[in-house]
Amino acid sequence: MDGEDFRKWSHKAADWGADYRADLRERPVRAQTRPGAVAARIAASAPEEGEAMEAIFADFEDVIVPGMTHWQHPRFFAYFPANAAPVSVVAEYLVSAMAAQCMLWQTSPAATELETKVIDWLRQALGLPEGFAGVIQDSASSATLSAVLTMRERALEWQGNRQGLSGQPRLRVYSTDQVHTSIDRAIWVSGIGEENLVRVPSGGRWRSMQPEALEAAIAEDLAAGYCPAGVIACVGGTSVGGSDDVAALGAIARRHGLYLHVDAAWAGSAMICPEFRHFWTGVEEADSVVFNPHKWLGAQFDCSVHFVRDPESLVKTLAIRPEFLKTHGHDGIVNYSEWTVPLGRRFRALKIWFLLRAHGLEGLRAMIRNHVAWSEKLAARLAAQPGFEIVTEPMLSLFSFRHQARDERETDEHNLRLVEAINNDGRIYLTQTRVDGKVAIRFQAGQFETTEADVDAAFEAITQIAAGL
Ligand SMILES: *Cc1c(COP(=O)(O)O)cnc(C)c1O
Repeated sequence: MDGEDFRKWSHKAADWGADYRADLRERPVRAQTRPGAVAARIAASAPEEGEAMEAIFADFEDVIVPGMTHWQHPRFFAYFPANAAPVSVVAEYLVSAMAAQCMLWQTSPAATELETKVIDWLRQALGLPEGFAGVIQDSASSATLSAVLTMRERALEWQGNRQGLSGQPRLRVYSTDQVHTSIDRAIWVSGIGEENLVRVPSGGRWRSMQPEALEAAIAEDLAAGYCPAGVIACVGGTSVGGSDDVAALGAIARRHGLYLHVDAAWAGSAMICPEFRHFWTGVEEADSVVFNPHKWLGAQFDCSVHFVRDPESLVKTLAIRPEFLKTHGHDGIVNYSEWTVPLGRRFRALKIWFLLRAHGLEGLRAMIRNHVAWSEKLAARLAAQPGFEIVTEPMLSLFSFRHQARDERETDEHNLRLVEAINNDGRIYLTQTRVDGKVAIRFQAGQFETTEADVDAAFEAITQIAAGL
């Protein structure tokens, strides 16, 4: 592709993107495709000779797009959002054109310095105290893995990386059953082992870890000769928004010298609104906090912010400095690849900068407040509807509900059928979970372009389709 063709097809891509966003409402939200249907239309091997861009682009529109689930659809109410505000997509075009490796200050000074700045903008926006620094990771899973590795090294007096875990004291990490599976994975990958992830009982409205039960678990482990290493708290759990009492857990962690990591991957974005910060009271006591601007806030995926109170511990855990990565003569600069597991890094700070400047914090707060209000209203409307039951009350903009089956023994199957029928209908997209073992349907409002009319449309779709089952 020569320079002129690059210009032409970049324009074409930009036009396509704008058109796509403009008429998303006309498309079914979830892909209405059968497994294998797309693969069947892709050649078995790569072509020997180059093909014309016209043909490649036509196949993109014809083969690929109909097989996509539309995450930027305003009636996407499933999972959590993966918002890509248009302005962050524009930033991403530019990043992709420069295609820089941002591993060291020297390999991309502006990317490094902007990263430090936008991390601090976000720290202030979320109400985190001065002293927290941070790094942009690809995903919350990576941030949590880095946190767990730091927790491990701290507990082993920085000998885990050198000596391995064999012959070390048995480490213990505490969380509830409400945390995301990325915590399990971090525990596996760090070599701590699933059996040493202690599920402390949770309870109450927010399914919070019971502080007395945490104390008891720590005491029991100490008596057994184990080595408690850290606590992983969750604010806005993926299933139904389960949230721990961070202040209470922080006090216990501090008393026992344990590392405290807070996973607020989704709910963290809402903390730009002071009225929601009660959900993480005590967060200033955490050693690290992760939240995903690529979920609710609107920074194109991927973009996860990992705040740390003591960058030295993180760097001591992850930095590795072979000669080819040494940048002589620049003391005191930050090399963010020393803060993460991957060496190579994309320039993710640009889209945060564009997003925050274009919308302003007030613009983003208004969006989040609307989502919360509309979601609460929908929960109230469904609760008043015969046959519907609210299973978990709204935590921010997430709640779960259930529809009564004619035969109560078939409630699970009935609700699974209902979600499937709703998603086949295409107007909205929802997902299910299990609450205390029983199927519940999740609803969250959070897409960047969602309007109140879209949430009203969800009410119509849910009640109509349930009535027809
Ligand atoms: C989405 C989510 C994660 C995982 O985020 P990734 O960025 O996809 O790794 C972790 N924890 C919570 C609470 C989440 O909602």
